[in-house]
Amino acid sequence: MARYRAAACRQCRREGIKLFLKGSRCFGEKCGIERRNYPPGQHGLSRVKLTNYGIQLREKQKAKRIYGVLESQFRRYFAMAERERGGTGENLLKLLERRLDNVVFRLGMAASRREARQMVGHGHIQINGRKVSIPSYIVKVGEVVQLRPTSKMQERVADNLGAGRGQIPAWLEVDSNEKKGTVRGLPIREDIQIPVQEQMIVELFSK
Ligand code: SF4
Repeated sequence: MARYRAAACRQCRREGIKLFLKGSRCFGEKCGIERRNYPPGQHGLSRVKLTNYGIQLREKQKAKRIYGVLESQFRRYFAMAERERGGTGENLLKLLERRLDNVVFRLGMAASRREARQMVGHGHIQINGRKVSIPSYIVKVGEVVQLRPTSKMQERVADNLGAGRGQIPAWLEVDSNEKKGTVRGLPIREDIQIPVQEQMIVELFSK
């Protein structure tokens, strides 16, 4: 566990941003970025100037790590984003944001996307009353995401909801008592507070 924690924090330090991979630790002063905000390793404190390609690659890696998706999956999202109307980069982030594991995290039911993914994968979440155990499920407007009444995670989720770790985005509505959230609309770019320059990803994939 300690090894995963160190690896997770190293990812953040490498990117120079908080990726929120470690749950409650990310919100306190023990956060690796709060303590040592420079890249890990011997040359961590020396600055390296990235090429344009390096920046594009970094932005893609950042988005992948934040949402915890693999390269092949990421490319599928990109292809879907290209097919939709509007800007591809923005479409890409909106799709990632609508993943069920991200929604569970955004609602505050889980302390991290990783925990949210486990909750979904282990069958603790239902949508409109039916169990959905696919973390990559893309939520739709009007759907109700809820902790299953029979789940053993009632206490844990209540703690997470009570911790009030972040602001719930406007496109979601949470009901802490019922441990559920409603998708009120689709996210707009301003709702997606992640430090990624999506245009760089589009440029990377357009080569
Ligand atoms: Fe570690 Fe902080 Fe990143 Fe969380 S946000 S994984 S505590 S460095």
